Amino acid sequence: MSVSAGEVRVFAQYADDVVETAEVVVVGSGPGGAIVAKELAERGRDVVLLEEGPPFSLDDLEIDPALSMSRTMRESGLRATRGSVMPTMQAICLGGGSLVNSAICVRAPDFVLDEWCERYGLTKTTRADLDPHYSAVGRFLGIAPTPDEVQGRRNLLFRQGCDALGYSSEPISRNVRGCRGSGECFTGCRARAKQSMDISAVPAAVRAGCRVLTSARVERVTGSADRAEGVRGSIVEPFTGRVAGRFEVHARRVVLAAGCMATPVLLEKSGGLANRSRQVGRNLRFHPGVAIVAGFDEHVDPHFGATQGYQSLQFLRDGYKLEGLWAPAAVLAVRTRGFGHVLKERLAQLPHSAVWDAIGSCNRSIGEVRVRRRGLDPKLLWRLHPADVPILARALYTLSEIAFAAGAHSVVTGVPGVPTEFHSLDDAQVLRNRSFRPSDFQTGGNHAFCTTRMHGDRERGVVDEFGRCHDVANLYIADTGVFPQCPSVNPMWTGMALAHRTAGLIAESL
Ligand SMILES: Cc1cc2nc3c(=O)[nH]c(=O)nc-3n(C[C@H](O)[C@H](O)[C@H](O)COP(=O)(O)OP(=O)(O)OC[C@H]3O[C@@H](n4cnc5c(N)ncnc54)[C@H](O)[C@@H]3O)c2cc1C
Ligand code: SF4
Repeated sequence: MSVSAGEVRVFAQYADDVVETAEVVVVGSGPGGAIVAKELAERGRDVVLLEEGPPFSLDDLEIDPALSMSRTMRESGLRATRGSVMPTMQAICLGGGSLVNSAICVRAPDFVLDEWCERYGLTKTTRADLDPHYSAVGRFLGIAPTPDEVQGRRNLLFRQGCDALGYSSEPISRNVRGCRGSGECFTGCRARAKQSMDISAVPAAVRAGCRVLTSARVERVTGSADRAEGVRGSIVEPFTGRVAGRFEVHARRVVLAAGCMATPVLLEKSGGLANRSRQVGRNLRFHPGVAIVAGFDEHVDPHFGATQGYQSLQFLRDGYKLEGLWAPAAVLAVRTRGFGHVLKERLAQLPHSAVWDAIGSCNRSIGEVRVRRRGLDPKLLWRLHPADVPILARALYTLSEIAFAAGAHSVVTGVPGVPTEFHSLDDAQVLRNRSFRPSDFQTGGNHAFCTTRMHGDRERGVVDEFGRCHDVANLYIADTGVFPQCPSVNPMWTGMALAHRTAGLIAESL
């Protein structure tokens, strides 16, 4: 039974193997793939969108974080890098990372785009080139600053601390409509306020006739080393991965948007496709994140308020960005130091605590995605470079400064070898005066990029700045793997802006 225009097929509906033909097949329904599918379908193109994960309806969202992670994330959310061990989460669901992320949208700053152009031989990736694409995506997703009414005390204390110190800060722009400040973005928005791709770009694509196959795991790009002819793979049961059938899609253009961990694996499993530069899977970069828990006398009730509502961009050129943060208490508990009653007492203080984080633009810390003999899960190698360590120490110091300026009585950083709790800014000076090892920091890295980087020189990059593979004329990549370096700010909006541009190019080429 072939899939009809405008149909979203789910696992229970597959009766036979599926063979489809389209003008364009898009692999992955995260921010990159969903935007490509929407743009092409709305321009009248015949598109098939393939997603390995299932769709999550309101009833499918689980507020228990362990259960939620085991259903929405690859490797149950427990994926980590080797070398420097760092947890990193990738989603497996319709909408990809947008279902579980905090909806933070920030345009890459001018100095980042200037550096990309200068160092990677790019001529059409300037502020002026990308802004129209950011704006088009922003209008569609309702990206706007978080209003005060839904900030919650946790985010407002961050602003208060920045104001007291004269540091710039601003409400975070997010792709939400009618956010209630429930702080639940990580387990999926039960208010359906977050404009994740499954309720925004994918439905828009479907309205324009796009066919969507969920539970469809692509295992290979078909065709020759010079020309892609489509993709093939297995129909897989949600949450178990049990193979229940096969599918094949023949298309004139193939777009890989499986995420920067999965796309290089797919290329390698397709006979080492698009890799004359030897850059596929290399250059893996993250924004390693560190966090503080600041204790206040007042009730902060940190679970209220936009998951991440306030930010400071003041220190971007120093290599870090600061933000308010919330994650379910059980997730915070895993990353809190102490056992038994010590841990219990710490967690009992959460209602009086604010959690804030910093992400580091650690361009010297480089890793790679390696392919395992069996399966598509990547082996991730990555090391926090000693030269990037001071960025994280400095970021924790600045967060401590902001906390004390906002009236905190204590700050916990989780860094070993420094006082477990700082009670004044004097205590925090150790972060400025001591030298640390990479292993001293408990980091998390959910912003990942560069594994199929763009480069003007085909010998040094996998795609050109429009996402077109240098080696395979009708193969495109539209996920964050195409970034040449860290964007220094949250990556989703830049990924979508680039994907928007790639879609326009594909439409013109047909
Ligand atoms: C908890 C969390 C919070 C975050 N918060 C923010 C934030 O607030 N702002 C921000 O800018 N960024 C944030 N990020 C990062 C952001 O979500 C990602 O950068 C973004 O989702 C990347 O988009 P993508 O399209 O490149 O890939 P993905 O979102 O990873 O999408 C790839 C899709 O491809 C599918 N896929 C993979 N392999 C296959 C295959 N073989 N066959 C078929 N389908 C496949 C996957 O299941 C997935 O749905 C966060 C990430 C996490 C995990
Ligand atoms: S804070 Fe709550 S209401 Fe707002 S987008 Fe996130 S989950 Fe939805």
